[in-house]
Amino acid sequence: MAKTPRKLKRARSRHAKSCEGKQPHKSRKEAEDTASKLRSERGRRNLVAYNCQQCGKWHLGNKQR
Ligand SMILES: [Zn+2]
Repeated sequence: MAKTPRKLKRARSRHAKSCEGKQPHKSRKEAEDTASKLRSERGRRNLVAYNCQQCGKWHLGNKQR
């Protein structure tokens, strides 16, 4: 198994830690589409799309209540 070059990965993406492991969506519609798919397929009812302050893209997260 090849090691993941962590330095390279970090240099390439300007993502902050909060973005790590999250799929970036380029538009709200794309994020919402994915969110609704996951909601129905996996029962992720608290899933919401939000505009990320760190990278300016859209991520999916859990609704905080
Ligand atoms: Zn982000």
